[in-house]
Amino acid sequence: MNAMRSLAILGGTFDPVHIGHLRAAWEASEALDAEVRLVPAGVPPHRPQPVAKAAERVAMLRAALAGQACLSLDLRELERAGPSYTFDTLASLRAQIGAQRPLILLAGADACAGLPTWHRWRELFDLAHLCVLTRPGHALPLPGELAAETAPRRVTAAAALRESPAGRVYELAVTPLEISATGIRAILAEGGEPRWLVPDALLSDPALLKPYRHLAGDR
Ligand code: ATP
Repeated sequence: MNAMRSLAILGGTFDPVHIGHLRAAWEASEALDAEVRLVPAGVPPHRPQPVAKAAERVAMLRAALAGQACLSLDLRELERAGPSYTFDTLASLRAQIGAQRPLILLAGADACAGLPTWHRWRELFDLAHLCVLTRPGHALPLPGELAAETAPRRVTAAAALRESPAGRVYELAVTPLEISATGIRAILAEGGEPRWLVPDALLSDPALLKPYRHLAGDR
């Protein structure tokens, strides 16, 4: 057993951060006994660019994460120029934490399904474990090429991720919350309030969700 506490990251656009992200990250922290960092993407390579600017998304994340110690923010993708490749993020974390500490890439089932299109995706397993988070509307098992790559790596106990620094795949069933940033942006664009879908801190400062209001208008 590795005595070092695992480090796990959840990357995303967080456009905006919502309860689905936070609860999944929290449950991963508990189930994996890991330090969890949320890593906002600067220029996501595989999807449309975020509506809110990087600084706006960071302000929302900071407000969401205030007052608790389990989840933190890692801004390395915003500090790097060019596309936010997960491979580069994991390589930079690996260089910092050394070869032995377990590193875990957390990703929802929807994000995992697209993994074979990611930059240097097979090499991700040299750098980190993959923990697939269940998400309503996105069925597991993982499709085709990915199933073949991950099958020999599968472990069924979270503790197995602490026994090596990288290379294993674990599926974590988190509380199913059918919440998406897309849905929240749609509510705001129509003048609604996404109460109980986002942390209260995002609603108590009217400036935070402003980038999404009147989306149908001039943005
Ligand atoms: P959008 O609707 O804009 O595509 P999103 O809600 O999927 O956004 P992202 O920032 O793209 O949010 O997600 C970051 C990571 O969090 C991804 O790995 C995604 O699968 C995961 N995730 C997001 N929402 C949930 C949820 N409700 N349950 C489990 N995982 C989630």
